[in-house]
Amino acid sequence: MRDKYETVIGLEIHAQLNTESKIFCGCSTRFGDEANSNVCPVCLGLPGALPVLNRRVVELAARAALALNLNINSRSIFSRKNYFYPDLPKGYQISQYDRPFSEHGWVEIPTSERDELGHATEWRTKKFCITRLHLEEDAGKSLHEGMPDPTRSYVDLNRSGVPLAEIVSEPDFRSSWEAYDYMQYLRRTLSYIGVCDGNMEEGSLRCDANVSVRLRGANEFGTRVELKNLNSFRFLQKALEYEIDRQIATIEAGGKVVQETRLWNEHESKTYSMRSKEEAHDYRYFPEPDLPPLVIDDELIEKQRAELPELSEARRRRFIDEYGLSLDDASQLTDSRETAEYFEATARTSGNAKASANWILNELVREMKSSATDFSSVPVSPEALAAMIKMIDSGGISGKMAKDVLVRMYQTGRTAEEIVSEMGGSQVSDEAAIRAFVDRAIAANPKQLEQYRAGKTSLVGFFVGQVMKLSSGRANPQVVNDVLKKALES
Ligand SMILES: [Zn+2]
Repeated sequence: MRDKYETVIGLEIHAQLNTESKIFCGCSTRFGDEANSNVCPVCLGLPGALPVLNRRVVELAARAALALNLNINSRSIFSRKNYFYPDLPKGYQISQYDRPFSEHGWVEIPTSERDELGHATEWRTKKFCITRLHLEEDAGKSLHEGMPDPTRSYVDLNRSGVPLAEIVSEPDFRSSWEAYDYMQYLRRTLSYIGVCDGNMEEGSLRCDANVSVRLRGANEFGTRVELKNLNSFRFLQKALEYEIDRQIATIEAGGKVVQETRLWNEHESKTYSMRSKEEAHDYRYFPEPDLPPLVIDDELIEKQRAELPELSEARRRRFIDEYGLSLDDASQLTDSRETAEYFEATARTSGNAKASANWILNELVREMKSSATDFSSVPVSPEALAAMIKMIDSGGISGKMAKDVLVRMYQTGRTAEEIVSEMGGSQVSDEAAIRAFVDRAIAANPKQLEQYRAGKTSLVGFFVGQVMKLSSGRANPQVVNDVLKKALES
């Protein structure tokens, strides 16, 4: 059934810009402060208060626009978007309408469909166009859950006036996974360039989606439905899937899709109608009389361009070319700027990029997960990890020993060298010493020796295990194998 139809999705993403203070006043943007403690006449919308644009907002927006290949307009206009809502004290939101900050951008990113287990089926590169990135202020927040009186609504205006960049895409996505991959790319890129922390739980990054279906080959778009407040990557993908199925089923049953706004209900895994087109707002936009046009000079743009770091996609490709990493490893290691920088420092110092990738993605990430730390505060420095990898490569410790060593490095913050000597010395590679362990292992297991010599050669693994046990894991496995084979066959 799905094959008969084509899905068309466009995304509107609101990203909170990483500033200390709000967009038009000096109030703090800090998350989690006591309700209504970061407010002033400007962001409360008191009569006569005048907004003044925060310069940092403009710098960050310019940086984001450059990273997303948008053209920055030399002159843009702030407009009032009028509507009534309890969390909007002024009765209007200052946004941008027909003269936005920037327009006509694009990204070229890897995307793939996923199987039932969520594994990518085939990565390919696809270009998605971005209509515009404009500036606006956030509204406050209505509170219900956990409030003293459940029959009342409460309002917290700390968010009122927090700076946002709204990034509107063209309707270029043809599946829920394309939308998902784009959203991931945007989060990663904005956090790489220090524009937005990408924290979806705290509302720093939010997503609305427009979705419609049409018969394959049709020229006109189907009737679109807006999905509001998709506040996690998983919700975005699941809500889109649900909505695509719902629209196709409606059409197949002879019905018509209604233009409306719907909300995702995670508990029931369904979307619900919030309001229909008839109730849609007419915002009566008009230019904000209290703010002059925003004029951007080349100097500001060039300064931001110079500060742009290597972006995640470029870095991912370089990790594959320069270090010979797999696509999967390179993707994981470029997921955040901290991870990528940690890997690169380890790889350069150890001279062994593949081992560095493996140790970071397996053992180190496991330790980090169990202690809920991230790469900005990991207790093992890249230099310390590199020194441990060098010890393995020079035969000083076995890979098996190194796993224990790394756990202790993580817990104590000490170097691999200190921990190895504390554990009773490094790896034993001396043939005579290993021969002694081998002899003891063989003498203790005459039955297995007999079976081995009768042709059951797979028992060599059993003997290796015995020797490793006798040496407390310190015997060099390569030497054990050689010495053991000689001894078993003599
Ligand atoms: Zn304020």
